[in-house]
Amino acid sequence: MREVVIIGAGLTGLTTAFHLKKRELDFVVFEQANRAGGVIHSVSENGFLYEEGPNSGVISNAEVLHLFEDLGADCEMEVAASAVKKRYVLKNGKWEALPGGLKSAVITPLFSLKDKFRILLEPFRPKGKDPHETLAGLVRRRLGKSFLNYAIDPFIIGVYAGDPGRLVPKYALPKLYQLEQQYGSFIGGSIKKQFQPKTEEMKKVTRCVFSVKGGLSVLIDGLVKHIGNERILLNSSKITVKPIADHFEVSYLNNQGEPISIEARKVISTVGAHQLDQIMPFIDSVSLAKIGSLHYTKVLEVIVGFKEWKGMNLDAFGGLIPFVEKRDLLGALFMSALFKDRAPEGGALFSIFMGGVRRQDIYQLPDDEVQKIVGMEFCDLMKVTDFQPELFKIIRHPYAIPQYEADSGERFSTIVAIEQKYPGLVIGGNLRDGIGMADRILQGKKLSDVV
Ligand SMILES: Cc1cc2nc3c(=O)[nH]c(=O)nc-3n(C[C@H](O)[C@H](O)[C@H](O)COP(=O)(O)OP(=O)(O)OC[C@H]3O[C@@H](n4cnc5c(N)ncnc54)[C@H](O)[C@@H]3O)c2cc1C
Repeated sequence: MREVVIIGAGLTGLTTAFHLKKRELDFVVFEQANRAGGVIHSVSENGFLYEEGPNSGVISNAEVLHLFEDLGADCEMEVAASAVKKRYVLKNGKWEALPGGLKSAVITPLFSLKDKFRILLEPFRPKGKDPHETLAGLVRRRLGKSFLNYAIDPFIIGVYAGDPGRLVPKYALPKLYQLEQQYGSFIGGSIKKQFQPKTEEMKKVTRCVFSVKGGLSVLIDGLVKHIGNERILLNSSKITVKPIADHFEVSYLNNQGEPISIEARKVISTVGAHQLDQIMPFIDSVSLAKIGSLHYTKVLEVIVGFKEWKGMNLDAFGGLIPFVEKRDLLGALFMSALFKDRAPEGGALFSIFMGGVRRQDIYQLPDDEVQKIVGMEFCDLMKVTDFQPELFKIIRHPYAIPQYEADSGERFSTIVAIEQKYPGLVIGGNLRDGIGMADRILQGKKLSDVV
């Protein structure tokens, strides 16, 4: 009999396990893959250090900092270089910096003159009444079409690889939704919030972009080291959970393919919504369907590295491409400008994203066609005359980013109902509570607190 079984050794499951270990509780983590980390995976190759999954996180809650403090010397946070805070957005085939202040907001060509004047009236616009209004609807109503197309749309592409016409702010961007609901205005609400007293914990939330010295896998290695290898059962397949009286039976095939059953008082799942029906067949099919219908978008991540960079000046975080620009790339992160030691001296490393909710057609293309498209787009956008990178990798993520759309509310209440029906069962993971790494770290802490 184990006290806790955690399913999934991605960032969420490992953070949960880390906190249980800190409290010296009894637990074991089941992972079907042959390594921990889930979608996080850093690779060193040919003088480049690249990420196959997420590239960076945002310090959007203090738990992120606490985790790094706890991990100590095993894992050193690297905050993105402040010199490259700028974010480019493509308009009419030209990179334009997203405004960072009032003056640049007035002169930027990204937004129309009409919308720049219109924004002065934003605080006086009535509050939305439809909790399922899409993000596109909300932004068009409060800020105007050009803000939607050239500020919110690229932001959503960068975070969700998503479509503002489908995401619902109540679930996908709850802080933005609350600004309107609580204060009646984005501008008025932001100003009022700035003057509110901040606790020490709130002051730590800098929203800085971070990675880890040596790549994000160093964070995973640090977590694994603190948790203990013996508590993470890699290559565990066909895991199924069955409730028995006041506890659970967990059956699986171990790394030798032998069937094993153990009992546990609590089970914490951190797997994706599409994997839940295999693990928990005892849940009624209607509830499983409501959870499993979560829309995950497919994303292509293309890593491009040059040993000698001869293209445009990499003075930004990266560039995002609004949907209205009708290009085949979603955007590119200038990784070697953001973090140290990502490319050989004088070289450059990029993470390029393709696909997403509105370009699923791109995901289906074979690798040689993807390479052709990237070569053409890259030469044009990054001012490269000859596309001969020393590093070129295509990584396909079939279940990349969950999209919190209009059906999210029903999904969340279904999860709560299941957890109430089966005390001791906790359903976590990126199917709720946010999609970013910082959200996962925060959820991992909360999941551990339930025990
Ligand atoms: C391409 C991409 C880019 C991203 N970019 C960013 C970014 O720049 N910034 C940011 O903050 N976030 C980003 N994210 C999101 C972030 O990476 C994720 O939110 C986070 O890493 C997810 O962690 P997780 O543990 O919840 O899920 P996962 O990493 O998916 O881990 C789940 C684990 O469960 C295991 N598992 C699944 N089914 C079973 C089963 N039946 N039995 C046992 N084990 C099972 C899986 O093998 C996996 O190890 C990105 C995600 C992707 C895919």
